Amino acid sequence: MTHSPGRHALAIPGPSVIPERVLQAMIRPAPDIYEGPFVEMVPGLIADLKAVARSRHQAAIYIGNGHAAWEAALANVIAPGDSVLVAATGLFGHGWAEVARGLGARVRLLDFGTAAPAGAQRVAEALVADRQRRIRALLVCHVDTSSSLRSDIAALRRALDESGHPALLMVDAIASLGCERLETDSWGIDVLVAASQKGLMCPPGLGLVFFNDRAEAARARCAPSRYWDWRPRARPESFYQHFAGTAPTHHLFALRAALDMIREEGLEAAWARHARLAAAVWAAADAWGRGGPLRLHLRDPALRAHSVTTLSIGAVHGTRLRRWLTENAGVTLGIGLGMGTKEDPRADGFFRIGHMGHVNAQMLLGVLGAIEAGLTALEIPHGTGAVEAAAAVLAAG
Ligand SMILES: *Cc1c(COP(=O)(O)O)cnc(C)c1O
Repeated sequence: MTHSPGRHALAIPGPSVIPERVLQAMIRPAPDIYEGPFVEMVPGLIADLKAVARSRHQAAIYIGNGHAAWEAALANVIAPGDSVLVAATGLFGHGWAEVARGLGARVRLLDFGTAAPAGAQRVAEALVADRQRRIRALLVCHVDTSSSLRSDIAALRRALDESGHPALLMVDAIASLGCERLETDSWGIDVLVAASQKGLMCPPGLGLVFFNDRAEAARARCAPSRYWDWRPRARPESFYQHFAGTAPTHHLFALRAALDMIREEGLEAAWARHARLAAAVWAAADAWGRGGPLRLHLRDPALRAHSVTTLSIGAVHGTRLRRWLTENAGVTLGIGLGMGTKEDPRADGFFRIGHMGHVNAQMLLGVLGAIEAGLTALEIPHGTGAVEAAAAVLAAG
């Protein structure tokens, strides 16, 4: 085999697979953006978006990727010179911290590495030590897509409450919204950031920011620039204000279709499907690891995200395996993003499997079966029975 005709599988953790129905929803002429069906579609779209985030508060949509949503969220509640506390559990935590620095914030970084979640204890200590209440917000990724770590957001809320600290809780849910349990309101998240191209199954291009009244109160201090200001987007006096100009028309058609799909499946059913698919990946990895160097990056299943899995496979094998799969099996796996070490600066020993959004058992078994073929072809030692183990998990439902 030197090339692989047939449908190519993209198993990277975003952009995720776009369903046919979402693609089809975009194939239509440009709509009128001043009145008519398109304008009438948007309020329901925002209501459904809030339902997926489990928020009854406000939502603003920006034309931009996750980085834009990071900046949008911060620009509304952080003024130059303000301090933010960042609990980083991988590359994306550090990335958000960089954006905060770029806006003139003083960043106090709690680096949890890539193998431990954002610990409420250390966060609480940092908050208690901040006697002058300089910290305006705690920033954390619900799921950091580089390490595939999930942090306990409700526990961080408790740390904030128990220390009596008024900082806002700002959560990046770009890799978890629509994929696993995320309760914006009941977990006490003040600002939630998301994007269209992961669990929401759409092309990249929509940055989403959800915010409550506490966050809105903080905005008054910050005087965000006209473009980033979330208020006119969330409570527009005219349709034109929703998007600070022309609406991202076809992205919104796509999002409408994706939200319909989530509603038809049921949000909790979608979470359960992601949990099952993740468990199938873990079962396969455990089986491979019994006879070779392949390992799940995170030992403790309770810390592993349900939307993405980070694996290590020693030395250069991660990159070799990815190349082999792309060239011979029609599967593209994710790179070992942000997992570099002194010995392996480019993280060639790591790879990631994205299993977020529009993924089902046969797609995942195809990816796992292709990895099995790659391990065999490259003579990378591995245990047997991985695909059977994954199938058994999927059969158990
Ligand atoms: C993908 C991702 C981002 C970055 O999103 P972009 O659209 O690439 O800017 C940020 N945070 C997390 C957790 C992500 O998964």
